[in-house]
Amino acid sequence: MPPRAAGRTMASPHRCVQEAPMRTVAPSPTPTTPASSEAGAGFSWAEAAAALDGLPGGGLNIAHEALDRHAAGPGAGRVALRWLGRDGTRVDLTYAELTDRAARFAGLLQELGVQRGERVFALAGRIPELYVAALGTLRHGAVFCPLFSAFGPEPVRVRLQRGDARVLVTTRELHERKVADLVDGLSGLRHVLLAEDLPARLAAATPAPMAATEPDDPALLHFTSGTTGTPKGALHAHRAVVAHHATSALALDLHEDDVFWCTADPGWVTGTSYGIIGPLTRGVTVVVDEAEFDADRWYATLARERVNVWYTAPTAIRMLMRAGEEARGDHDLGALRLTASVGEPLAADAVRWGRRVLGHEIHDTWWQTETGAIMVANLPGDPVRPGAMGRPFPGIEAALARRDAEGHVVRDAFGRPELVEAAGEPGELLLRAGWPSMFCEYVGEPARTSACFAGDWYLSGDLARRDEDGWYWFLGRGDDVIKTAGHLVGPFEIESVLCEHAAVVEAAAIGIPDPIAGQVVIAKVVPAPGHADTAELRRELRAFARRRLGPAIAPRRIDVVDTLPRTRSGKIMRRLVRAQELGLPEGDVSTVEATR
Ligand code: ATP
Ligand code: MG
Repeated sequence: MPPRAAGRTMASPHRCVQEAPMRTVAPSPTPTTPASSEAGAGFSWAEAAAALDGLPGGGLNIAHEALDRHAAGPGAGRVALRWLGRDGTRVDLTYAELTDRAARFAGLLQELGVQRGERVFALAGRIPELYVAALGTLRHGAVFCPLFSAFGPEPVRVRLQRGDARVLVTTRELHERKVADLVDGLSGLRHVLLAEDLPARLAAATPAPMAATEPDDPALLHFTSGTTGTPKGALHAHRAVVAHHATSALALDLHEDDVFWCTADPGWVTGTSYGIIGPLTRGVTVVVDEAEFDADRWYATLARERVNVWYTAPTAIRMLMRAGEEARGDHDLGALRLTASVGEPLAADAVRWGRRVLGHEIHDTWWQTETGAIMVANLPGDPVRPGAMGRPFPGIEAALARRDAEGHVVRDAFGRPELVEAAGEPGELLLRAGWPSMFCEYVGEPARTSACFAGDWYLSGDLARRDEDGWYWFLGRGDDVIKTAGHLVGPFEIESVLCEHAAVVEAAAIGIPDPIAGQVVIAKVVPAPGHADTAELRRELRAFARRRLGPAIAPRRIDVVDTLPRTRSGKIMRRLVRAQELGLPEGDVSTVEATR
């Protein structure tokens, strides 16, 4: 593929369509951090782009890189998707079969008159038709937008409207429960395709050729998790596949013939970037489990499917931890060589749990809906620093910016952020704009989009520290940071210490107003198996926290609770913990998960 197809630095960073010279990112001196590890030595986005096929004439289409490239060669007969139904059904689709179905889905969109760039939404559980629709939509040159099937009617309506949905793929049941009453109010929505009807419709459809999309053509629309407020619709272009492919190779270590399982739902960006696209571009077999979390089932799946690489999230790891080490039983996890985590901070106790129970330390990876792909990681081959997110992915330039008392990034007269130089100092995590999977915009929200950029940096909104060797340590989301008696405290610092206690499996720390200290820290903890809420336990935890954290930042109160409020993508919603604690309005709770 010609190098111009991807990896360009964009003059105006939030546009998909800017032309600018290609930049090869070489290790750079502090205050930004060197590209990580031997694994990435000599890496450039131009070479990463050249590792893909591309389309004739310089075009690029994600579906081609994920499917056709393999279907046209010796990989055609390899299993692309191994679907495990809730009821024990198994469906294997080879690269050739999945390519054919995607081509027919694209043909169906063509028959329906769907134009390139129009948006095709999916509201369905993890069923095979969802994967066919995703890849068929990309092949057609339309934009794919997945929604969590568990969303209620109002969050579905808001997203269909904000995303200007033209087509919706869903199931009969979800249609009746959540969509039927909305359709009249959505003037742009022209077609609802039911998964139950798709086999017959695909059989009748003519397979469509690959759309000649350009790298900057829009491909994917993902709504953020809504952890901090109203979810934003982040749009990504086909060039994102360069980052999906490179990170799947170097951060997830995926190689042909590997069996890979990503537990994320495609309703969240991880479920698309790494539940569909990245691993398929690497020619692996992707395991999809339709069922929800169940410790026995998960251990059994890892063992029976001989999963080599597992990508999951702290929320799932904590659920396994809650199930107790004995839940692993005598399942043979010998095929599993790498477990990686994303979505929330991975505290050191969870990394060590991985060593004991899975046979290796869990590798953390940090990224966001906006970044489209892994940006900071404990790369395989690098030693893991338990509790650290890792180092910037090769080709990614990261830095930390100073924030003022109001939490805004401090800028110079030219709008450039003031960078934190010293190791160990907190700052907002920045990424130099221009990597291939950077979002183009939040749809319909230009002001919110431009607020994410300062100079040529993208502002992540997360706070971190960097150690002398360039490893980044997560402190908390900018909005969650606690200021107590002049100290700036990241909730994660407190939560990871609480999780070190044997009686605690999960924790959330928040700041609540205090007339003297400004804010004081309080914490909610979920007890480990065999521990219950007693006054003695609470006393013991308070004493433990004071010893480990010091009296200035140790929680003033620790409550023992059954569950913590989470988003559908598994993130603790500290703003909701805080609102509940203070009896304030709960704000946008469209993505909150029903209590387990
Ligand atoms: P919203 O932007 O709507 O508030 P969100 O930020 O939770 O929601 P996502 O894009 O799904 O939406 O999540 C990205 C965020 O998840 C990151 O900004 C970070 O706060 C958190 N995160 C992801 N990976 C990690 C990690 N490895 N360690 C710590 N935090 C992580
Ligand atoms: Mg966010």
